[in-house]
Amino acid sequence: MRIVLLGAPGSGKGTQAQRLQAKYGVPQVSSGDLLRDSVARGTELGRKVKSVMDAGQLVSDDLVLGLIRERLGKPDAARGFILDGFPRNIDQANALNALLKELGQPIDAVLLLDVRRETLVQRLAGRRTCPTCGTVYNVHSMPAGATTCSKDGAQLYQRPDDKEDVVAKRLEVYQSQTQPLIDHYSKLGQLRAVAGEGALEEVFERMEAAALAKPVPAEKVKVTMRTARSTTAKKKAPAKKAPTKKAATKTKASGKKAKARRRPVRKAAAKKPARRKSVKRVAKRKTARARRR
Ligand code: AMP
Repeated sequence: MRIVLLGAPGSGKGTQAQRLQAKYGVPQVSSGDLLRDSVARGTELGRKVKSVMDAGQLVSDDLVLGLIRERLGKPDAARGFILDGFPRNIDQANALNALLKELGQPIDAVLLLDVRRETLVQRLAGRRTCPTCGTVYNVHSMPAGATTCSKDGAQLYQRPDDKEDVVAKRLEVYQSQTQPLIDHYSKLGQLRAVAGEGALEEVFERMEAAALAKPVPAEKVKVTMRTARSTTAKKKAPAKKAPTKKAATKTKASGKKAKARRRPVRKAAAKKPARRKSVKRVAKRKTARARRR
C-alpha cells in the first residue's frame, strides 16, 4: 500500500491515515507531524519553521523534502506508506515522483478526502489535542466543560495554527497551492475522490475501498458486450437503399409501434379517451344497424 492522502486541512487525512496504518501495518508519514516534532525537540530546522507554521504558511520545499526523504528511507517504509500532508504543491509532487522512482516505490493511488468548507472550519477551530498521547478531540463532540484527555487526564491544548484567523489562511494556501494537485493526479489517472463527511467508520470504509481498488492496466481492458454488439451491428449493416413505398409505410408503422412501446406511462394514459370514443362509435353503429333491421 503506497498511498498519498490529499485534502484540505481538517478533511480528516490524519485520522484516516492512522486507521489505515493500524489495519494494514504501513506507516503514516505526516509532514506536519515531522515538522511539529522538530519544533518540539527544538532542532535547528524546528526553530526555522516554527513561525512559518504558526502563520499557516507552507514551509520551504527543500526542508520538507529532506524530512520526507529521510523518513521514507527507514526500513518500515519499505513495505509501503501513507503520505499525509505531502505533497502540498506541484513542485513537491514532482520531487516526490523523482524520489519514489529512485526508491523503486511508485504510488498506487492518490486519495482525495472531499469535505465542505464550513465543515473544515468547524473541525479545525474546534480541534483540541492531548500533549501527552496525541489524541485529537473536538469541542463540538466533547462533553460540555471537558478540557482534559479522557485517556490520561492531560490538559488539552489548541494548536496555534488552529486559531480561527490562521485557519482561514491555511484554507487559502490550500486552495491556491495544493488544490492544483487534484488536476495533476487526475490527469495521471491516479486520483480517487472519497466523500469525507459522515461517521468516521463510514469514511474509513470508503477510503479502504478506494485504496484497495486496483486500477486495470489499459492493455487488459476488454471491450464490454454492449459495445462489442453495437460495433458488430454497425459493421454488418448493409448499405442503405432507398425504401419502396410499401417498405417505407411499413418502416413508418413499425417505427410508430416502437415509439409507442417506449412511451412512458403518462402518455399511455393520455390515450385512454380515444379508446372510449371508438367504443361509443361501435355502439352507435350497432343501434343504427338494429334500426335498419
Ligand atoms: P498539517 O499538520 O499537515 O496541517 O501541517 C501543519 C503545517 O505544517 C502546515 O500549515 C505547514 O506550515 C507545514 N507543512 C506540513 N506539510 C507541509 C508540506 N508538505 N509543505 C510545506 N509545509 C508543510
